[in-house]
Amino acid sequence: MSEIGDALARELGRDRVAEDAAALAAHRTDYWILAHLRARQGRLAGGPACVVTPRTTAEVASAVRLAERHGAGVVPYGAGSGVVGGATPPAGSLVVDLTAMSRLLELNERALYARAEAGMLGGAYEAALGARGYTTGNYPQSIDRSTLGGWVATRAAGQFSTRYGNIEDLCLGLEAVLPGGAVVRLEPVVPRASVGPNLRELFLGSEGAFGVITEVTLRVHPLPEERALASFAFPSMAAALDTVRRVLRVGWRPAVLRAYDRVETARQFSAWAPADACLLLVVCEGPGALVQAESAACAREAATGSGTAVGTEPVAHWLEARNKVPSWDFFLDREMLADTIEVAAAWDRIDRLYETVVAALAGAPGVVVASGHSSHGYPQGTNIYFTFVMKPEPFSEAEAAYLEAWGRALRATLAAGGTISHHHGIGRLRAPWLEQELKSAYPLLRALKRALDPSGMMNPGALIATPG
Ligand SMILES: Cc1cc2nc3c(=O)[nH]c(=O)nc-3n(C[C@H](O)[C@H](O)[C@H](O)COP(=O)(O)OP(=O)(O)OC[C@H]3O[C@@H](n4cnc5c(N)ncnc54)[C@H](O)[C@@H]3O)c2cc1C
Repeated sequence: MSEIGDALARELGRDRVAEDAAALAAHRTDYWILAHLRARQGRLAGGPACVVTPRTTAEVASAVRLAERHGAGVVPYGAGSGVVGGATPPAGSLVVDLTAMSRLLELNERALYARAEAGMLGGAYEAALGARGYTTGNYPQSIDRSTLGGWVATRAAGQFSTRYGNIEDLCLGLEAVLPGGAVVRLEPVVPRASVGPNLRELFLGSEGAFGVITEVTLRVHPLPEERALASFAFPSMAAALDTVRRVLRVGWRPAVLRAYDRVETARQFSAWAPADACLLLVVCEGPGALVQAESAACAREAATGSGTAVGTEPVAHWLEARNKVPSWDFFLDREMLADTIEVAAAWDRIDRLYETVVAALAGAPGVVVASGHSSHGYPQGTNIYFTFVMKPEPFSEAEAAYLEAWGRALRATLAAGGTISHHHGIGRLRAPWLEQELKSAYPLLRALKRALDPSGMMNPGALIATPG
């Protein structure tokens, strides 16, 4: 056993510590396709020395203190569903696996919030709330394979965010273990406070670089009284996006507004949508009277934008299939790569962003298809979620081709005035790009990192790039 493993076993108990090949392999990477490619090619560098699975916040604090004493990096690990390499531990690091901290601690039905340990899986949390008549309203596609702490750490967004908000809107409080082992609780739960900057924000999107989140408090909502589905076909992506804009600008908040370009409409909805159309899916939910008024308003705006009603079937199909994802192995077995790039921009820049990023991806060597849809709209703008599939030749050069495609997409995004990530975060994949996005604010982020984590032990290389 390693020195740190030995020390942890003495302090926390042998059953909390694992160093066998299977445990280390299971925590070698998250869901980032490039790490999976490297593993297949025998080029995945690094890897943890040890995995600790604490049961309490005090055990997390002990593990962090011991790691500091032994000069080891600490990588908080939720369910490993991150797609940008945030949980891809460097050599010799200590992985803190949170999944044994998975209890729902409190559901406050009067004040509409719930408190849970950070390692609770989203699906289990939602099921526990649902059994008592509530929902979190946060349904990332990965809900069954991601943790509440991971949601906060990556600044996640759920499929129904237009009505319920993203994780930063839902998170009312949290507890975290800081580098050095001090425990900080950001509470009490109040509807709002004017007590200086909101310190919760330090952890929303922190990706393990500022500490280990051990508990979260999230808003909950009574289960909706009614739900209505509709879909509309448009002659262009611009017309579909503009309908989303007009619905949101006057104050409607349908739970789902998803506008698919021609390629994705043909791929997923050809059984219902006319050829060459761009499909908009709409889900309204909440009190019955609101749902009826909101559905009627969406239909009016769709008609104004030259949209024609397609019916409820495409939405029912999406609701049924929305969490099914092919594994990376499907592509890698065929010497192909696939990935998604979710970016966002204001309404006055979104058409240019969509056009230039799709063109940039389509023009990258080896890319066989590039497409996009908008899934999270706001009065000020929307995200676009791009998907590309590539068959690099020769496949031994696949990493360079993959990074070239990403580089082209992110350069086009920045040139169009967009943000390089809407909800997957920075991880190790986008870390070299963050300075170009934050510009004059980047030194502030680095200063915060130095102040909170002077030895740089927390998830080194994630969020903030380290040299090399
Ligand atoms: C099929 C699929 C669909 C997805 N759909 C969505 C989606 O709809 N919306 C969305 O936002 N994302 C989505 N994702 C991305 C991913 O699920 C989210 O980023 C999720 O929030 C990660 O949670 P996790 O518990 O798996 O975190 P991990 O992958 O384990 O970790 C992600 C990052 O957070 C840090 N971290 C994790 N837990 C903690 C903690 N307790 N304290 C401090 N740092 C921590 C890690 O160090 C790492 O940097 C999807 C991913 C997949 C594979």
